[in-house]
Amino acid sequence: MSLLKIGVIPGDGVGPEVTEVGLGILEKVAKRDGLVYELHPFDLGGERFLRTGEVLPQADQDRLRACDVILLGAVGHPGVPPGVLEKGILLKLRFDFHQYINLRPVRLFPGAPCPVTGKGPDDIDMVVVRENNEDLYVGAGGFTYKGTPEEVAIQTSINTRPGVERCIRYAFDAARGRAARGAFKGLSEADKAGGYTRQVTLVAKTNVLTFAHDLWMRAFNEVAADYPDVKPGYMHVDACCMRMVTNPEWFDVIVTTNMFGDIITDLGAVLQGGMGLAASGNLNPTKTAPSMFEPVHGSAPDIAGKGIANPLAAILSTAMMLDHVGATPSADRIRRAVARVLAAGAPKTPDLGGKASTVEVGNAVRDAL
Ligand code: ATP
Ligand code: MG
Repeated sequence: MSLLKIGVIPGDGVGPEVTEVGLGILEKVAKRDGLVYELHPFDLGGERFLRTGEVLPQADQDRLRACDVILLGAVGHPGVPPGVLEKGILLKLRFDFHQYINLRPVRLFPGAPCPVTGKGPDDIDMVVVRENNEDLYVGAGGFTYKGTPEEVAIQTSINTRPGVERCIRYAFDAARGRAARGAFKGLSEADKAGGYTRQVTLVAKTNVLTFAHDLWMRAFNEVAADYPDVKPGYMHVDACCMRMVTNPEWFDVIVTTNMFGDIITDLGAVLQGGMGLAASGNLNPTKTAPSMFEPVHGSAPDIAGKGIANPLAAILSTAMMLDHVGATPSADRIRRAVARVLAAGAPKTPDLGGKASTVEVGNAVRDAL
């Protein structure tokens, strides 16, 4: 493989702590598998903003664009007003680099704690495909009569047919990709006899968002017709929240809007053992600009600096980066190492009920590789 240029944004809070561990794992697996890469560090986040007033200077963004992929720890700082870093860094990169898919696997590893009694690793193995460039996140809207008792605030959800369709298509392709691992366990005998191997569930709110989600529903039905091997399904987002807890085994691939995807993936993170285990990728599937990989969690200011953040989400995000660049065997190796550490029951960081440090868990994964 040719030289891979990796932009690294450690960011704030626990971001640098978990990113360093993730990079250590990458180093080891790269050495073993002959991957060559170079790291390009970026000082971005709340710390820099407070120091210099800069959020994301154009020069930094240009240098980021020149990278093949980006690894992000977390940006967020208690001293920075809400929205500055989210809008100025996270959303800006997601939008400007056309990272239109936010891919969030929800998989329970044996040994990771699941808060739902009676559900185990066989029941929790889904992936959420979240639209990442549209919906309420575009920042369209405004105030009328701001600051008066009659104030009105409008926040517009933008849903374009091409934007929705490419996301839905990605979800159906992802379902086919998962077919290589065998048929989805939640299919009935009748489904299988009908030729289905996998399932995609559209999660929306068609009964209330009668314009936006009408478009989603029509696009979904049209795309589904191109995938006769994938069973299409629909669930309202509120029912989905309930069913993810009571019947997680019903889900294979979920495709959903930006806002709903944000919400249900925090629920998904809890199902798989907590924020310390949830990885994500902001993907530009066309590769016209770099994709960005990050743990679902934020800067976790409450535990920052204590050396006890769980590094597994960052490690698993690094594995997703390797998937994206075609180094799937290396990515699988990392996931197997994480699985082995979790199955062993120790070391574990406090969020998983253990007493180990970030670095100790990282070392254990390194040894397991
Ligand atoms: P941000 O503003 O950056 O999003 P936040 O306040 O939303 O930060 P999160 O980072 O999303 O906080 O964390 C939510 C909760 O999950 C916190 O209690 C935090 O301690 C915990 N948490 C998050 N990440 C981890 C981790 N890697 N290991 C252990 N606990 C974590
Ligand atoms: Mg957060």
